[in-house]
Amino acid sequence: MEIEVLEKDDKNIRLLIRGVNVPFINALRRIAIAEVPCMAIDEVVMIENSSILQDEIIAHRLGLIPLKTDLDSYNLPEKCPCKSELGCNLCRVTLTLDVESKEGTRTVHSDELKSENLDIVPVSDKIPIIKLAKEQRLRLEAYARLGKGKNHAKWQPVSMCTYKYMPKIEISSKNCDACEKCVEICPRKVLTKAENKIKIQDLMECTLCQDCAEACPQSPPAIEISHEENAFIFNIESTGALPPERVLSEAVKILDEQLKEFGSEIKVKKSEKS
Ligand code: SF4
Ligand code: SF4
Ligand SMILES: [Zn+2]
Repeated sequence: MEIEVLEKDDKNIRLLIRGVNVPFINALRRIAIAEVPCMAIDEVVMIENSSILQDEIIAHRLGLIPLKTDLDSYNLPEKCPCKSELGCNLCRVTLTLDVESKEGTRTVHSDELKSENLDIVPVSDKIPIIKLAKEQRLRLEAYARLGKGKNHAKWQPVSMCTYKYMPKIEISSKNCDACEKCVEICPRKVLTKAENKIKIQDLMECTLCQDCAEACPQSPPAIEISHEENAFIFNIESTGALPPERVLSEAVKILDEQLKEFGSEIKVKKSEKS
C-alpha cells in the first residue's frame, strides 16, 4: 500500500491511497463514521428553565454540539472499570450552563458552557444554543461521554468521510483538433488549452462524469475518461472532535481488532467441529 498526503489542515485530510481495493477502503470509511468514538453530551439535568423551549429540545441541541475529545484519557462507558450508570472521572465530563437575560433578548452561545476539563470543550465558541428574553433563565448540568456514531449521529467524529476512484484522462493527440468543446463543458475546470493543445490542469477534481467525452465531436472521442485500478482519493472532514489523522489511525486500529476477532471466532468454530 502507498499513501500520499495531498492536503491536510486542522479539520481535513485528503489522501491518495494506492494498492487497496473497494472493500478495504469502504470498511475504513464506515468505521470512521460509525465506530471511532468521540465525546458528546448524553444526559442533562435541568435545574431551571424559564425559556420558551422545552427541556428535551435544549438537551437535544446540547448533544449536537461537537466537543473536543481526548481519547487517551477517557473510557467508553461500557468499558470503564467503574461499571456505574452515573459514570466516573474516567468516563464522564460535567459541563454546566448558568445564563440569564437581564436586559432585552440575548443569544446564549457554546462558549458559555463551562467544562470541568478544559480539554473537553465545544469545538467552536459561536454555536447558538438558545435565545433568552428578558428575565428568562437557564441553569443546567450536562454529562458528556464517549460514544459511537452507530448509536447516535452526535458521536460521529466526522462530518464527511468519502472516497473516489483516482481518475485517468487520456487525450489522443492524433484525433484531437483542440476544438475546446471538452474544456468548455467540464464542470470542474479540469481541462485547459495551452499551446494549441488540451492539457489536464487539475486531475484530482475530475468526477468521472464523462461529459467531456460525450461532447467531443470526434468518433471515437479523442478524450477517454477512466480510473486507475486500486487507487483512491480518500477525504476526511472532522467535526473538530479529533484531528482527521487520529480518526484515520483509530479506524485502522478498530478494523485490525475486528479482523482479529473474526479470525479467532473462525478458529473457535473449527475446534468445536473437530
Ligand atoms: S469526466 Fe467530467 S469532470 Fe472529468 S474532465 Fe471530463 S467533464 Fe471534467
Ligand atoms: S472535444 Fe475532443 S477534439 Fe475537441 S479539444 Fe476536446 S478532446 Fe480534442
Ligand atoms: Zn467510569
